[in-house]
Amino acid sequence: MLSVAEALSRILAETQALPAVTLPLGDALGHVLAADVLSDMDSPPFDKALMDGYAVVASDIRSGGTRLEVIEEVTAGVVPQRMVASGEATRIMTGAPLPEGADAVIKVEETELDGGDPRQVRILADSTLPGQNLIRRGTNKRTGEVVVQAGTLLRAQELAALAEMGCHEVRVFPQPRVAVLATGDELVPIHSQPQPGQIRNSNETMLCAQIKQAGAIPVPLGIARDERSELAARIDAGLEADVLLLSGGVSAGVLDLVPSELQQAGVEQIFHKVNVKPGKPLWFGVLRQSDQSKLVFGLPGNPVSSMVTFELFVRPALRRLMGVDPAEPQTVSVRLAHSHSHRDDRPTYFPASISLTGDGLSVSLAKWHGSSDLQSTVGTNGMVAFPPEPIEYSAGDTVEVIRWSGEFS
Ligand code: AMP
Ligand code: MG
Repeated sequence: MLSVAEALSRILAETQALPAVTLPLGDALGHVLAADVLSDMDSPPFDKALMDGYAVVASDIRSGGTRLEVIEEVTAGVVPQRMVASGEATRIMTGAPLPEGADAVIKVEETELDGGDPRQVRILADSTLPGQNLIRRGTNKRTGEVVVQAGTLLRAQELAALAEMGCHEVRVFPQPRVAVLATGDELVPIHSQPQPGQIRNSNETMLCAQIKQAGAIPVPLGIARDERSELAARIDAGLEADVLLLSGGVSAGVLDLVPSELQQAGVEQIFHKVNVKPGKPLWFGVLRQSDQSKLVFGLPGNPVSSMVTFELFVRPALRRLMGVDPAEPQTVSVRLAHSHSHRDDRPTYFPASISLTGDGLSVSLAKWHGSSDLQSTVGTNGMVAFPPEPIEYSAGDTVEVIRWSGEFS
């Protein structure tokens, strides 16, 4: 059976970023930039005052009480008309361009008007240095330098830097559309009262949320019965999206029809089953097309199996489609908050809560009853990856942890 790493590498080998699109900058949050953006001007574009005060010649200020003649007042957005010579000062506001001749700004708090006359100022400070309380043109960025590199995930910080450079449209990788089809005769919509033997379709809600947390767009397709013609029709609809996720119907039951119906629809199986707990029955295939192949995942129906296999395999694929590199889930070494006796011959991903304590990160395992136990995942924010061997852990031992979608990312 494939290992988690082999299965992930087969998925990523079939996955490449979607063709880039142009978006208004305001719509680009959470997208990855597809091409470097260069600055179209210096930042700041002119020598600029950082304080409200007086623009002066620094060498004029040698002892407290220097008197200067105020020759002009410059507010933000106004261009100074007069050069400041020795013995002179310009009243200046934060953000206004520094007049020629001046090389320092004295804060207004360190000045007094002489007899209330706005044309005569007394500088209380004993001295100042050239460059005080101002920023020179191009200090932050020079024209033609890279503002944000291709491959960067756009957050508020990057969007602001691009906005400063007038980059009102950006080339980014689009968010994939991900269809979600729950399969199972026992399933009813979540607003229904289940009859004997029935359960609510919680996987659709969960997977749609995980898709959103990964930065993609969910397309819920409702419930398909375990019946060939119904499955075939829904699979065809799902293959309109960039990615199709099915939940259920991929194990060894008599009504587990998903793999054969996918192959009937032209989806090529890449693998079926992974050596992992929970999630062993995972199925993955591609619908090959001339431009972009569609990815199809048959997730095991048990809710925590679906949740975990989404995090381990689907999320990385979605991240790769969105241009994120590296796409693989990042593991962190964290100390166990308590002892734990682990015995399983499959690599196991165990729901857990990672928290920041006084002396770093620590992780507590959920009281988890296995792959159908969705309730105990409430409040968890990651999973501990246990190796396939019996180990007696003591509190303080280090374990490897993967954080759920949307946690610290
Ligand atoms: P399956 O993979 O179809 O054999 O289903 C495995 C288990 O997961 C069964 O107990 C199903 O009832 C349950 N299950 C399947 N689909 C869903 C779903 N959409 N929501 C919640 N539980 C499900
Ligand atoms: Mg089923």
